[in-house]
Amino acid sequence: MNKNLILIAGPCAVESEKQILKTAEFLKKHNIKYLRGGAFKPRTSPDSFQGLKEKGIKILLKAKENYSLNIVTELMDSKDIPLFKDIDVLQIGARNMQNFPLLIEAGNIGKTILLKRGLSATIEEWINAAKYIQKQGNNNIIMCARGIRTFEKETRNTPDISAIPLIKQKTDFKVIFDPSHATGKKELILPMAKAALAAGADGLMVEVHPAPKKALSDSEQQFNFIEFKKFLEKINQ
Ligand code: PEP
Ligand code: MN
Repeated sequence: MNKNLILIAGPCAVESEKQILKTAEFLKKHNIKYLRGGAFKPRTSPDSFQGLKEKGIKILLKAKENYSLNIVTELMDSKDIPLFKDIDVLQIGARNMQNFPLLIEAGNIGKTILLKRGLSATIEEWINAAKYIQKQGNNNIIMCARGIRTFEKETRNTPDISAIPLIKQKTDFKVIFDPSHATGKKELILPMAKAALAAGADGLMVEVHPAPKKALSDSEQQFNFIEFKKFLEKINQ
């Protein structure tokens, strides 16, 4: 495998210590350097699982300590920034891509920011959002393409692969692709990941859960460990 490829994996949400430590152990064994998992979850419905919040961050930090993994997790509100002191990469989610005060405050901390493309954001709007972070003196930005909203209903979103070379041509930022949220379908993750890498993506972010069927969010699109292992083997080829 290309050693410089940024591979981020983990469940959609942090649900329990056992779930995260199991995943961390599995990822470490497969030489993945970045563990993802939402402690604060931006859910479309207020009745859906909202994340374990502060407790979730503590669980992620335990996994970081036990398995020396880098942690990627979403910051939804700048009031929570103190909790993210030992988090390695701050994710700004699609729904917050144009939350300008949040971009400014997150940019100010100086940590690497993973900036997801907004659900209906143009490339220009996405780049401008990144510039808000950059303006704080922070160039450590990874753009994360994740599909956009179109009229198509077979997939959760429509993967816009052209966004990857476009960002590379227009900016100096790294670009990774999230095939899990781009399609919402397990069986499309491998082909879309291959397409993204062929288009020049610097990495991938993929959801994996020890028991996807029991997941509290995005259960349809999360790989189990066996599926993730097969996926990695194919990507490594
Ligand atoms: C996520 O990656 O956890 C997430 C919520 O994705 P998005 O913001 O792209 O919907
Ligand atoms: Mn998810």
